[in-house]
Amino acid sequence: MTAQRDYADLVQRGLSLDLTRGKPSPRQLDLSNDLIKLPTSYRAADGTDGRNYGNLQGLAELRELFAPLVQVPAGQLVVGGNSSLAMMHDTVVHALLTPVPGAARRWVEEPKITFLCPVPGYDRHFTICERFGITMVPVPMNAGGPDMDVVERLVAQDANVKGMWCVPKYSNPSGVTYSDETVRRLAAMTTAAPDFRIFWDNAYAVHHLTDTPAELADLLALSAERGNADRVFVYASTSKVTLAGSGVSFFGSSPANVAWFLHNTSKQSIGPDKINQLRHVEFLRDAAGVGAHMRRHAELIGPKFELVDKVLTERLGGLATWTTPKGGYFVSLEVPHAAEVVAKAKEAGIALTPAGATHPYGQDPDDRTIRIAPTYPDLDELEQAISGLAVCARLVAAEHA
Ligand code: PMP
Repeated sequence: MTAQRDYADLVQRGLSLDLTRGKPSPRQLDLSNDLIKLPTSYRAADGTDGRNYGNLQGLAELRELFAPLVQVPAGQLVVGGNSSLAMMHDTVVHALLTPVPGAARRWVEEPKITFLCPVPGYDRHFTICERFGITMVPVPMNAGGPDMDVVERLVAQDANVKGMWCVPKYSNPSGVTYSDETVRRLAAMTTAAPDFRIFWDNAYAVHHLTDTPAELADLLALSAERGNADRVFVYASTSKVTLAGSGVSFFGSSPANVAWFLHNTSKQSIGPDKINQLRHVEFLRDAAGVGAHMRRHAELIGPKFELVDKVLTERLGGLATWTTPKGGYFVSLEVPHAAEVVAKAKEAGIALTPAGATHPYGQDPDDRTIRIAPTYPDLDELEQAISGLAVCARLVAAEHA
């Protein structure tokens, strides 16, 4: 049979390809090489010496640069180290150990804590919950974001529901951007827990692949308008703007939450790396500078997303469905018996994110979702990997026919 023969040929080729993680390619990192020579001055705009301790909140000029991009007033933005994931992790730890504004007690004293997890979602959010014994409840994603009927019901009926993970723009992995209606409902919904928080991980805020960027409504402002000012924790970073290992990250929230956050982080650190912050201000300059830089990324990775779509259309049309994202870092492939497809690919030397990773506890009840991360390999390797993946999917389909 052709499917078996194609698979045997694939294995024969002894490939070693990796589509697992959404990493920028070396050419993308090259776009930010000038950062390494900066800053030209270690003086911040307010005259302070960036080399020294201090300024826990981060440089005002960097906060002002990013404020409009992440939809948080500069005064309510905190600059962190290179990882926004670390800020998310630490926010959960802070909430466990120090009551968030509005909480009756520390989360660690709660009999049970539940977070809502739109699926498919980002595995590292789920890992944070697993680490701290937080129960995860999956919520299906629709074209405009999480199913809000389900979300509204769950947050209204259960005071244990303390949190919800959201990747609101070019979501990981579905590419979905939350609709205005979804954002409005998140801002306005009634929650049984007074200390409920939305972890608004806007990791792909400026990561457009087209000339018509997705627009995201301003959850922080809308929540404040609806009397729920403290509901939202916003996160973002330059991991996929400048250097994934040496960028800057952001936390933004209401004034009360920011005071709570800084109170807690003041026990952790005497101040962040302001030289890196200065470097980013000099390099990116302003919102237009970020836009121009992101267009250069899109020129490099846009063709990779087009290639994935082309190969899947040619090789898997009719057997699978997949997303054609307008931004972000991932394609979400829906194919029957996903776990078997991933296992066959592994045997053929093509590493994919484990099937199920897009769901809490690694359990995709439909065994359908495979996350494809096309940015790191070059075009030739990507073509081989996606064609190989299609061979595996065809083999598995033939075996179940
Ligand atoms: N959030 C999402 C949704 C991501 O996809 C990623 C990177 N894969 C991160 C956070 C990690 O961000 P950082 O590098 O700032 O820790």
